[in-house]
Parts: sequence; structure tokens; C-alpha cells
Amino acid sequence: MALVIQKFGGTAVGDPERIQAVAEHVSRTIRRGDQVVMVVSAMGKETDDLLRLASEVSSTHPGREMDMLITAGERKATALMCMALHDLDIPADSFTGSQAGFLTDTTHTNAKIIEVRPDRVREALDAGRVAVVGGSQGVSTDNDVTFLGRGGSDTTAVALAHALNADVCELYTDVTGVFTTDPRLVPSARKMNTISFDELLEMTATGCPKPAMRSVEYARTHRVKLHVRSAFTWQEGTWVTEEEPNMEQAIVSAITHDDSEAKMTINGVPDKPGVAAQVFRSLANQDINVDLIVQNVSDHGVTDISFTVPHDDVSHVEKILNQIAGELEAQGVSIDTEIARVSVVGAGMRTNPGVAAKMFEVLADEGINIAMISTSAIRISCVVQENRVEDAVKALHTAFNLSTT
Ligand code: ADP
Ligand code: ASP
Ligand code: MG
Repeated sequence: MALVIQKFGGTAVGDPERIQAVAEHVSRTIRRGDQVVMVVSAMGKETDDLLRLASEVSSTHPGREMDMLITAGERKATALMCMALHDLDIPADSFTGSQAGFLTDTTHTNAKIIEVRPDRVREALDAGRVAVVGGSQGVSTDNDVTFLGRGGSDTTAVALAHALNADVCELYTDVTGVFTTDPRLVPSARKMNTISFDELLEMTATGCPKPAMRSVEYARTHRVKLHVRSAFTWQEGTWVTEEEPNMEQAIVSAITHDDSEAKMTINGVPDKPGVAAQVFRSLANQDINVDLIVQNVSDHGVTDISFTVPHDDVSHVEKILNQIAGELEAQGVSIDTEIARVSVVGAGMRTNPGVAAKMFEVLADEGINIAMISTSAIRISCVVQENRVEDAVKALHTAFNLSTT
């Protein structure tokens, strides 16, 4: 008898028929003799709808109330799922994050898990019942309801898998697994049968929405077995594995893209020790998450420093930079929101030279200019003009032979 965590995304439980179809699937797993803990997201686009509703009611969004509002979406889905299971004679109980033992910090709208004490979930399992847990939620050390952030249901599932020592954590979504690139952009993208944690982390850090990055980090740290698969076809999906030392690695496994960032530049700052430290310390003190930093060659003792930040932080960062620019007597601050990042990811890159050269050649052949470059041992990212990023993804996917034949 295996213990299986099955997490269903918003599309997978998007309407009454989908909820019934998912309940049928769970009942098949139970009849096979396995135990199941389900984690469900809010139905369809309900989280977006609730956020919109909040904006329509008020311009202030107090974290405590936002979390109470958003988690209602998942709570509704758990109760409906249990009713569908009861109809199939499967005993099942719904649990909020708090009831399932998710203790979090007090960072409303993006809370971090401190501890999971799934006693009630375990009791339900021992009594032969399915536990249906609301995703992306918990209770804070101040005893308030908290939301774990967008995509947090994946993290709920992985954390439960770890806390319950489950045999596998299955993340059911609307595609058949992790693909070589976004299948909406490149229809010939290929589903991967396996991918390493390191590669998947690089993919999720550079724009692949599935699974949520925090859940992949959690799974890697705690060695949770992950299986990303479809709630529509139920076929075998993508297994996320440890990299085997002797495994023959694909040089390039996937292409990702991300258009959620903007490029900020502080122009004409003095090129001397301590300047970069001052700029980035000021940003860090305001909790700004900076990525991809480039400093230009010095010209007459001054230089430009550019970096990327999420679109949502642009106006905040602009204010901070204008202040620093004044202090440093810099020439000014400029912002480019029309940028996007394209990345190639592959563990085989560690031992095979020439991937960067090939990537730059492919972009050059497409007439795509590179504004910034960053690399890790298994990833190369280029910042390009936003309106060319789709062309870049398609050309690189073809050039690195990733399509189905
Ligand atoms: P869920 O709601 O099930 O948690 P999301 O809607 O957040 O999942 O993410 C699933 C979507 O991610 C898919 O519909 C797919 O179009 C998109 N996607 C983008 N890039 C990839 C990729 N490389 N592999 C798989 N899916 C991807
Ligand atoms: N429903 C929430 C979201 O869309 C949480 C989740 O499903 O992961 O972000
Ligand atoms: Mg979704």
C-alpha cells in the first residue's frame, strides 16, 4: 500500500464535471489499494477573480483580509471535492491549511511554512478516509489565516508529502508534464519523461510556471519524489529525479522565457569601490529582489549599472534609484519595461563547450540583439527586446533539436 499525495491545479478542478472526473480518478487510486491525500487549488481562475474583486471594493489591500479572501477559493474547492467523493462511496474529509497543521510566518499574501504537523490528516488516513487539503494556506504564529502566494498549492503538496513521508507527490495540471519549452508557444515542444531537480529549478527560476519554484526547492531539499502529470489524459508524466553521476546528460534540455521583468539602469555613477555595494544595499534594505546585474566598462571614471527587477517593483525601485543617483551625483536613471529573458537550460552544458556561442549565433541569425547576458553552470540567459522573445524561443528550440520529430 502506497501513500500518494495528489495535487490538482485550478484548471483540473475548474467546473463541476472536472471535480467529478478528478474524484473518479482518486477513487481508482483508492480501489487499487493506495492511500490518498489530495491538495486542491481554487477552481479555474477564481484566485484572479477574488483579487479583482478586492481591487473593485477598495484600493487598500490589508494582508490579513486579503489572505482570508483568497484562501476562500481553495476552501470551497475542498468541500465540493469531498461531496463528489462521497457520491462515489469514498469517505473523505476537507481540511483548511490550518486544520492540516500548516504553521507559517506572518508575511501575509506570501507566507513561508515554518512547520507542518499533519496530525488530523494522519488520523483521517488511519480511519480509511481521503484527506482533502486546501492548497497554499496555513495559520500564522499570530493565529491568523495566511496565503502561501501564487502557485503555493504545489508547495502545500510537497510539504505534506515530506511531513507524511509519502511515497510520491503527483502534481496534476492541464498539460502532460514538463515540456522542452512552453507548449502554448511551440506546439512541437516535447514532454520530458524525466528531468533533474537542478534543471527544473533553473527552468522555474527563468519563467517556466510549472511546478512553482518554491515547491521544487522544497522537494529537492527534502528528497520528495515528484511526478508532474495531466488531470485530463491521466497518462504518465514527467518524473523529477536526482541527477545520476554517470548519466549521459542532454546538452540542452529546455528553453524558457520570462517577460515579467524590467531593466533598470543607473547611468554615469563614479567607477570606484563601494558604489555597487551602496546601490544594492539600499535595494536589499527595501526587500527588492534584484536579478541579472551588468556593469558597463568605465568611461572617464564613470560607469552604468543595469539590473532586472519584477515589473511590480518598478515604481518602488525608481524612487530608491533616484535618491541614490542624487547621493552619488549620477547622471540619471533609465527604465526599459519592454524586455524579456530567454534561457537555455541543460545539465550537459557543464562538460560541453560551445552552447553559449551557438545560442548567440542563433539569436544573431534572427537579427535579435542581446542586451544582457547571465550564466550558471547549467543555464545561459539573454535579455532581448520583448517583442522578439517568442522568435528567440522558437529559433533556439529548433536549433538545439528539442522538437518532436
Ligand atoms: P496549475 O494551475 O495546474 O497549477 P499553471 O496553470 O500554473 O498550473 O501552469 C501550467 C501551464 O504552464 C501549462 O498550461 C503550460 O501551458 C504552461 N507551461 C509553460 N512552460 C511550460 C513547460 N516548459 N512545461 C510545461 N508547462 C509549461
Ligand atoms: N490558487 C492559487 C493560485 O492560483 C494557489 C495555487 O493554486 O497554487 O495562485
Ligand atoms: Mg493555473
